[in-house]
Amino acid sequence: MFDTVIKGGHVVDGTGASGGTADIGVRDGVIVEIGAIAGPARRVIDADGALVTPGWVDAHTHYDGQVTWDDKLEGSAANGVTTVVMGNCGVGFAPVPPGGAKSLIDLMEGVEDIPGTALFEGMPWGEWETFPEYLEFLDRRSWSMDVSGQIAHGALRFYVMGERAILKEGATEDDAARMAMIAEQAVRAGAVGFSTSRIIGHKSMSGYSVPGTYAPEQELAAIARGMKAGGGAVLQAIPANSIGQIDGMEPEHATLLSEIELFARLSRTNGLPVVFSTFQINDAPTLWRDVLAAVSLENGRGARLAPMVAPRAGTVLTTLKGYHHFMRRPTYMRLAGLPLDRLVRELHRNEVKAAILAERDTPHPQPGAMENLLPGLFRQALPLTFRMTDPLDYEPTLDQSLAALAQRASRDPIEYLYDFLLEDDGAAVGIFLGANYIDGNLDACREMLLDPNTVTGLSDAGAHVNFICDMTIPTFNLTHWVRDRSRGERLPIELMVAKCTSTPARLFGLTDRGSLRVGQRADINVIDLENLKIEVPTMHHDLPAGGSRFLQPSTGYLATLVNGVQTRERDTDTGARPGRVARPVHQTVFA
Ligand SMILES: [Zn+2]
Repeated sequence: MFDTVIKGGHVVDGTGASGGTADIGVRDGVIVEIGAIAGPARRVIDADGALVTPGWVDAHTHYDGQVTWDDKLEGSAANGVTTVVMGNCGVGFAPVPPGGAKSLIDLMEGVEDIPGTALFEGMPWGEWETFPEYLEFLDRRSWSMDVSGQIAHGALRFYVMGERAILKEGATEDDAARMAMIAEQAVRAGAVGFSTSRIIGHKSMSGYSVPGTYAPEQELAAIARGMKAGGGAVLQAIPANSIGQIDGMEPEHATLLSEIELFARLSRTNGLPVVFSTFQINDAPTLWRDVLAAVSLENGRGARLAPMVAPRAGTVLTTLKGYHHFMRRPTYMRLAGLPLDRLVRELHRNEVKAAILAERDTPHPQPGAMENLLPGLFRQALPLTFRMTDPLDYEPTLDQSLAALAQRASRDPIEYLYDFLLEDDGAAVGIFLGANYIDGNLDACREMLLDPNTVTGLSDAGAHVNFICDMTIPTFNLTHWVRDRSRGERLPIELMVAKCTSTPARLFGLTDRGSLRVGQRADINVIDLENLKIEVPTMHHDLPAGGSRFLQPSTGYLATLVNGVQTRERDTDTGARPGRVARPVHQTVFA
């Protein structure tokens, strides 16, 4: 007797092998048979005409706080994700000394734009101090999907170095030895990685870069040795210079190619995989090709480097009730608290509009606040900012940008932007296609995805909740790259499924999942590929303490199973919470 049989679907198994029609039999959370299944089952899911894949493994998220108050993780659950890896980019919430929450929240709010009040009020501070205690706390909870944690350099440095953590100086030998020991304990307890941020632009609300940004090689090498001693785990990094120079900020402290060499040394010496974010950037639009070539060379010499690439542009959203160009104008700030309908009515008045357009920005008191960074960006970004309308197009031609539309209408682009934000009764959403869209198309992404060393991800789910909404990336891999792309070649379904299932699973040692084979966990999606659709994002005010966030569901997921239990039925949460903390099954150390 099977618990569940998924019948007659087109199975693309996540290994990269060609798909074919098969039934899948599930018992006790595990795939026990694949083929033509005749035996009885408690439950049959009819997958005739549907695509059957492993559940998506989303290896770049920031749910570290949210997992303590939210068991649904709707944004990712609605996109077929069955495992998330959190703790990326050097920011996280363990270890944390008693009374240390404030520094970590300041950092998380500044870097990842998760409202600090939500983190203060939503999280049960005091329930853990060490990283193993954090995982033990999470072990008492359950979710709609599995979650994996990484120990973050920012938290680790604060814990060991206190106030000195934010200085540019490296750790002392003693500091480094303590960090190594704590990293070892974290990995032994089940951390799938250690993460570090090396770009200057990732700043706390108080305006300093993530502790560890300037860490010298000795400090990282000591931590890597600790990770190896603990059994091995992934070193995750956002490298210096990986998003280019940010206007008005001091220059980056290392070149991207010297970062690759550093990662290769750390990887080879300690036998650890290193995964790092890679983009096409404005300052050097072809540098990513040199990065991929350097990675290929280093991997040929025994390193294990995995550039993590996005399947679409790096995006920034703008909307009236989120962030926008006019949010720090004094007249706007006086009206900002009004309910949306009254706000829109006020903003339509000629004298209000004239005042806002004529005013200068009032700086936000916290130097690292997004309110100080984003208004200027929104102005610069107009030639690459587009209306988000149904059906969504993530690869539009440049003549559709707000700047191009304003020019054709012979209007001032900023005044045009003002009116745009009031469209749809103030619900209009604009999307800036930044990194990866320098050529005005996604050809660079396609080449990056085809590279055998890359892994895809970078949804940043759970973070930047008021201006980035990329939790749909796993869905986009199918809708755009497999099915819809019209401005260039598409990509094979087998490749795209493998890139977001077995590839990240193997990288993080989660080898019990990521493919549909007998003996693997039954983490499975049944998808109506023909009708799979990403919806326009909308703003919600449902975080603890009334915090807001964008959510963007997708439709067309007929069923999602996590550990054999159905968590989604036709795009709806079933209420089941089979998700637990996922720890590496195989040690990731390779030498
Ligand atoms: Zn991140």
